[in-house]
Amino acid sequence: MTSATPELLQALIRNQCVNDGTPESGGESRNADVLAAVLEGPGVELERYESLPGRASLVARIDGSDPAAPSLLLMGHTDVVPANAENWRHDPFGGEQIDGEIWGRGAVDMLNHTSSMAIAMRRLADSGFRPRGTLVYLAVADEEGGGTYGAEWLLEHQRESVAADYVITETGGMSLPVPGATETLLPVMVGEKGFGWVTLVVRGTPGHGSMPLRTDNALVKAAEVVQRVAAIQSTPRVEGQWRDFVEACRLPEDVERLFLDADALTAYCTSEDADLQLARLIHAATTTTIAPTMVRGGVKTNVIADRVEIELDIRTLPGVTADDLVSAIAAAVGEELMASVDVQVGKFQEASLSSPESPLWDSLAKASSALLPGSRPVPFLLVGVTDARFFRGAGSTAYGYGLFSDRISFRDFASMFHGNDERIDIESLRLSTELWSAVAQDFLD
Ligand SMILES: [Zn+2]
Repeated sequence: MTSATPELLQALIRNQCVNDGTPESGGESRNADVLAAVLEGPGVELERYESLPGRASLVARIDGSDPAAPSLLLMGHTDVVPANAENWRHDPFGGEQIDGEIWGRGAVDMLNHTSSMAIAMRRLADSGFRPRGTLVYLAVADEEGGGTYGAEWLLEHQRESVAADYVITETGGMSLPVPGATETLLPVMVGEKGFGWVTLVVRGTPGHGSMPLRTDNALVKAAEVVQRVAAIQSTPRVEGQWRDFVEACRLPEDVERLFLDADALTAYCTSEDADLQLARLIHAATTTTIAPTMVRGGVKTNVIADRVEIELDIRTLPGVTADDLVSAIAAAVGEELMASVDVQVGKFQEASLSSPESPLWDSLAKASSALLPGSRPVPFLLVGVTDARFFRGAGSTAYGYGLFSDRISFRDFASMFHGNDERIDIESLRLSTELWSAVAQDFLD
């Protein structure tokens, strides 16, 4: 089997472990097989766990000599989201190498790290690495389906095999274009926002569509509800995690003042001059956001609608609870209209946060500046979700990180996650492979 990250990444892409959210999709055992073939050998213990037939996760371990020393888990998921080949310039599952880049679904999310972590692990074992703390590698299934048959399942059923004091997984490390920054600032995702999937059920009274005057039309009311909810403008939270980030950036005084003033930050994010991609990210990192994303309702063209359901994708800052969401929605919709609306909180998960002050942080910073001179990690809040949240819930300090070359911009990266033309350059794969190895050696010794 290969000992090179690019070839391993190609094999993982070609296995097409596409997770469409159904329990029978994924087929991650195919990628677990390939990774087991790379990892097996002296110095590494392998375990394999199947939550469902065909959905294996793989655990590899280099045991530490000191049971009291902190352990480190390198975690990559083996599944990918679907891809529509029509919209790609190259086959999303071809794993082709073109002009120094590997193309395919999973190239940045996150088979790049799943492969580079495995190669780093094997190389460490081959070099006779005998750490004080235990090093664990986890190739996990079902991240893209929410972790039900992967990280969440493993922590519930095989906790002693996967639990670790410190965890590194996706996503982070792509240089942030912060205005005024003089260094290459690499975000370490020290936490991630929570989420609430909320359904608003708007009730009306059915009647004939030919006589709409003064009818109680659920669809008309729902349109108003959507407007009011979408207009909720929360004040950015410039304290806590955001302040940690801004201060770590060491920005010119005027930029720092702007970033730490709620009103000025709102003005910046909404101004036409701001880079829209960056403004969206700042807005999402400093506020609880609400996006109305789906609507269902009515029964027939000639019937006044008596029921409309609106789906909201809500992403919460640390400390925001489900009750907070319900009261914010009720306040925005207003008492009169709320009489026709039921708020149903479906899935809800609170935000999770690890401290940026840790020995693992120091190791990441040391390895990053050695591999990318002039770069420095800064703590950031991931606005999406990853499997790291399950491990924070289990008591681990978990970070999302990686290293990338300057070949692909922050904007390209953002558009490639779950998007078209996903690809990664060979130099980025080399940097990440070296990063995991350097961090493991520094941190576990
Ligand atoms: Zn991912």
